[in-house]
Amino acid sequence: MRILVVEDEAELGRMLGAALARHDILVDLAPSFAVAEEALQLHDYAAVVLDRTLPDGEGLDLLPLIRARPAPCPVIVLSALSSVDQRVEGLDGGADDYLAKPFATDELLARLRALLRRPSLAESEAIELGRLRFQPEHRSVEIEGSALELPRRELLVLEALLRRAGRVVDRRALEDAVYGYDDEIASNSLDAHVSRLRRKLAPAGLEIHTIRGVGYLLRASE
Ligand code: CA
Repeated sequence: MRILVVEDEAELGRMLGAALARHDILVDLAPSFAVAEEALQLHDYAAVVLDRTLPDGEGLDLLPLIRARPAPCPVIVLSALSSVDQRVEGLDGGADDYLAKPFATDELLARLRALLRRPSLAESEAIELGRLRFQPEHRSVEIEGSALELPRRELLVLEALLRRAGRVVDRRALEDAVYGYDDEIASNSLDAHVSRLRRKLAPAGLEIHTIRGVGYLLRASE
């Protein structure tokens, strides 16, 4: 198993690498935002341990990139920024867990184990919410057993929202999930996809809430 540790404090990075290696976990150490960004483009990781204050950026800004990957992996933020607001910011931003520095290595290992036990978000198991069922393997959507045909981009929006159901999905993460790097993104096209989807999902008992200035949240209405 290979994980990415994004940490600019060299000593802490080395210590984590050694501690994880004792549990047969291979660690790539990224000492900066830029190195982490590159590593994420080159490799698949089972998990990411993410520092926030990096010399060249805020670690949380990597979350949309991690979420937009074909196989999103769990992220645990490890940071001295540990007020309630800062933790909420991290979790709402897409982190799966948040551990305050200073921390006990054993606790980090325990939390990593817990995250890795969770079924991977990339797994092909069907996702059910309200009266809707999404089958990732066949890219099919059903509402109470009847097929719902969706254009490709609406399906991508739905999938991204479903995988984070009940949580706010950052607008940029959604755009990353829906558009390729070469696509021209009209400023309102994501909103147009969402509003069409919102109408189509109503019979499934699902609501898409707009969180102004942040993104969208999908949840069952009852
Ligand atoms: Ca740091």
